Amino acid sequence: MKVLEIKNLNVAYKNKEKQVFAVNNVSLSINEGDSVGIVGESGSGKSTLAMAILRLLPESSTEITGTIDYKGKDLLKMSTGEFNEIRWKELAVVFQKSMNGLSPIHKIGSQIEDIYRVHVPKISKQKVKEKILSLFKLVNLSERVYNLYPHELSGGMLQRVSIALSLIHQPPILILDEATTALDVVTQGQILSEIQKLEEKIKMTRIMITHDMSVVATACKKVVVMYAGKVMEVGKVQDVLLKPTHPYTQGLMKSFPSLKGEKTELRGIPGFMPNLADQNKGCIFAPRCSFAKEKCHKEVPKEIEITHGHFSACHIYGGDFN
Ligand code: ATP
Ligand code: MG
Repeated sequence: MKVLEIKNLNVAYKNKEKQVFAVNNVSLSINEGDSVGIVGESGSGKSTLAMAILRLLPESSTEITGTIDYKGKDLLKMSTGEFNEIRWKELAVVFQKSMNGLSPIHKIGSQIEDIYRVHVPKISKQKVKEKILSLFKLVNLSERVYNLYPHELSGGMLQRVSIALSLIHQPPILILDEATTALDVVTQGQILSEIQKLEEKIKMTRIMITHDMSVVATACKKVVVMYAGKVMEVGKVQDVLLKPTHPYTQGLMKSFPSLKGEKTELRGIPGFMPNLADQNKGCIFAPRCSFAKEKCHKEVPKEIEITHGHFSACHIYGGDFN
């Protein structure tokens, strides 16, 4: 069953004299229980996409078109009241350094209690505490954190608090934007495996933005490859990572000598991302693509289904490419 359906989504940041086309005609279909990794070089629009889904983009300085359907309703058209009803409860997000907004003068536990009560006002203090402590366990935090102040926690501990907090209402959709990146590899692995167990129990759908292909390989079923605001390739993890079809994905994969190796950054494709202030005529990757022909500079490629559920937006697969 489809849980999130994004259609023709465009996001432009409007600055004084120019626009930045950060998300460009993105369409994605996400099913219940999916775990989707979103990868792509820095600046490819991953966080902008997440922020559009969560309606965190400032209306005054962004222009958004397209639709994001959640349970048959367009998230972008919901009233603020309607959206606030589902935010956290049904749609939760964790960014890197999410917890920087905590109040310094209140203990962690009581702050989380207050956040929980926004949606469930009548629950007893004891019940909330039990819930929070079980989530602390899930993210490998000791119970004593409940009574500490934010400044007494390390950055990694705060990040784990924010992951615990995101899970408090057992949201049907969880979005992690580099949320585990700063944690050590062992802790990250433990948390992701706990989240995966939880997903099986409650049918949670996870969208995970990361630079770490080994995380995608071990903790996601599907992967979306983005570049310069566009989706280049989508498919099951084993298809895309083992048999990448888009020249951009192939370049990305070459920059990962071993999926099991150390954490590595995405790099290794010669050239730079284009200026996103320009409207591009052809394939956005064409200037960096070693296979590019005339057509690539003139026509935007459509997504072509290579094998079942595996799509690539590349003219190579479109027939008349000679
Ligand atoms: P990273 O991997 O570094 O987190 P990303 O894929 O999340 O990158 P975004 O942060 O979504 O990329 O940025 C996409 C594009 O939008 C980039 O060119 C970025 O410079 C631009 N951008 C992001 N925020 C703004 C803003 N507030 N105003 C103008 N441009 C912005
Ligand atoms: Mg980002």
